[in-house]
Amino acid sequence: KTAIKQRHNEAAENQIPSQPGQLYIGGEWIDSESDQMLQTHDPTTGEVLAEVQAGNAADIDNAVNAAWEAYETCWSAYSAADRQQVLSKIADRIEARKEDFATIESLDNGKPISEARIDLDLVIDHFRYFGGAARINSGKTIPCDGDHQIQTLREPYGVVGQIIPWNFPLLMAAWKLAPSLAAGNAVVLKPAEQTPLSVLELMREIDDILPDGVVNVVTGFGSEAGEPLSRHDGIYKLAFTGSTEVGRGVMKNAAENITDVTLELGGKSPVVVFPDADIEKAAQVARIGMFHNTGECCCAGTRLLVHEDVRSEFLDAFVQEVENLTMGDPLLEETTLGPKVTRDQVNRTLDYIKEARKTGADIATGGDAPDDEALSDGCFVSPTVLTNIDHESRPVQEEIFGPVETVFEWSSYDEMIELANDVDYGLAAGVITNDLNQAYRAAEDIEAGNIWVNTYNEFPAGQPFGGYKQSGIGRETAFEAIEHYTQTKTLNIALE
Ligand code: NAD
Repeated sequence: KTAIKQRHNEAAENQIPSQPGQLYIGGEWIDSESDQMLQTHDPTTGEVLAEVQAGNAADIDNAVNAAWEAYETCWSAYSAADRQQVLSKIADRIEARKEDFATIESLDNGKPISEARIDLDLVIDHFRYFGGAARINSGKTIPCDGDHQIQTLREPYGVVGQIIPWNFPLLMAAWKLAPSLAAGNAVVLKPAEQTPLSVLELMREIDDILPDGVVNVVTGFGSEAGEPLSRHDGIYKLAFTGSTEVGRGVMKNAAENITDVTLELGGKSPVVVFPDADIEKAAQVARIGMFHNTGECCCAGTRLLVHEDVRSEFLDAFVQEVENLTMGDPLLEETTLGPKVTRDQVNRTLDYIKEARKTGADIATGGDAPDDEALSDGCFVSPTVLTNIDHESRPVQEEIFGPVETVFEWSSYDEMIELANDVDYGLAAGVITNDLNQAYRAAEDIEAGNIWVNTYNEFPAGQPFGGYKQSGIGRETAFEAIEHYTQTKTLNIALE
């Protein structure tokens, strides 16, 4: 325990500024009008990592005004090539300090450092991708009868509002900032209150690259800073990532101003194992699908649907994979499972496990917090696999957002598809088989926005991501994101 604390204190001293984090508005670092601070904790040690401003509605108002001023006086005059340069420079700066950012992410969120580096590679990839995409964002020329020409222009909204969660703090910021800036918008971004530090460090790093006010960051709680952002009539496009419950409220608020929304919400994604699958590989893919980022992935493969012929063999291999995870200090290279982000999240996860037990589920492995004195100050939950659980029960239907897998058995294809689709969500799915025809058929029949075949949790910048059903509206990443951050203007020109 002492060694972990020492390692974390040293890393925090090196990476986190000692002065409290301020709001970043109009290119200035300022205090909140609220006079309130919030604390962010290290989920591995339980200690306070830093204090940041608890922004409020007045700060959001200031940030929206600063963004409009930047848009009108400067940013809208940047050409696509200019914006590409800005985004490329941002990518270069992050790349040069990749290890610093990965360490901050690991300290603030608890994710293993090896996984934080994967996040950083994706962050860099997204800024580079959207730098290029800025150059090919264009309208259409549409044939029509008579001496007319119809053209469409893709124009930015002006100022967009963005609210992000704590599970991938910098990656979610990149998913939001890169396409919106590439499309030519100015931004007001609200990070999650649990993990504000990497985004603040990003703004310190790129302050000299961005014109003042093009990106404004207001840290704070959801109800005090997020809600006013979602209600603000100076926001012409809103993008939200978080829970379905909060997303529903954000959409209602946006409706007041007829503001366009993109929502990336929860999931309860199935991973289907066909009887022909290579069992070792299937167990590995399923383990990555569920336990990457400690299960704190909206698209986590939380419902394993295994064909009855291979159920027993697969379960043995899968439990072995899960038991081979190394839970511990996320700053250590060997760690593959870190703590959850907060104590609240631990309690929430353990409550779902308790409920599953009560309703008769069996625990194939895990089921509790680890019995390890060295980890007792941290927010750890042992990786857990539940079997014989009712598909209609809450732990199966609701998002646990922790390291808890549920396993089901199927015999007929139709029964499998019915199970796969028997949730309100439709974010992602995995299909594991050596028969591509079978994979295609299942991919068509499963109601989800992202289907991975023989792999899981891949997020290259060029691949659209988003949900069916209650998992969201719109797509992020890929060129589709540029389309979401622009609106169409149609020109009909009468020619002589
Ligand atoms: P959350 O919905 O509580 O919070 C997300 C963000 O919304 C935070 O910044 C929070 O401060 C803000 N917020 C909270 N209340 C608000 C309000 N009333 N008005 C406006 N903003 C408000 O979710 P969370 O606990 O931070 O994250 C976990 C959830 O996010 C999970 O359900 C997960 O599935 C989902 N998620 C989805 C994706 C995706 O891409 N689909 C990605 C990551 C997380």
